[in-house]
Amino acid sequence: MEQTNEMVIEFDSRACNESFIRVAVAAFMTQLNPTLEEVADVKTALSEAVTNAIVHGYENEVKKISVHCRIRERELSLTVSDNGKGIEDIEKAMEPLFTTKPDSERSGMGFAFMEAFMDEVKVTSEPGKGTSVRMKKTIGRQNEYHD
Ligand code: ATP
Ligand code: MG
Repeated sequence: MEQTNEMVIEFDSRACNESFIRVAVAAFMTQLNPTLEEVADVKTALSEAVTNAIVHGYENEVKKISVHCRIRERELSLTVSDNGKGIEDIEKAMEPLFTTKPDSERSGMGFAFMEAFMDEVKVTSEPGKGTSVRMKKTIGRQNEYHD
């Protein structure tokens, strides 16, 4: 039988909650025996998605963000969802260096980091309704030939 384990956390879209959600997900994934590098990769990708929900999705208005986390065998899936303004052109938004806020300190590298640090990144979005970023990463690859 396939083993799964899930959790969902919903929190206010305040920047001060970013460190909290990073630590919560890092704690949840310890059951997979990750390396420090794997934990750092997941935290970075998660931060980028949560920051995007705060600054782009809600444009700094305080609303709810949810993070759904699932472990199946050695695969960690994370879905970061907001009910914010949504993305008109997802393909364009995901291009490296593309940003709709070039005048603030945004560099347009958030999705590129998520793709670099996770095995898979899928974005669904509807303008006016919100955005979901679903990411997956297989943990423990370094043990593949040893256990
Ligand atoms: P950086 O992440 O480097 O600070 P950035 O946030 O602009 O800059 P990305 O994270 O790659 O770059 O996102 C690209 C663009 O996609 C954003 O500029 C924004 O227009 C759009 N976007 C990303 N996430 C969301 C979201 N949750 N809701 C609405 N728009 C989003
Ligand atoms: Mg970003």
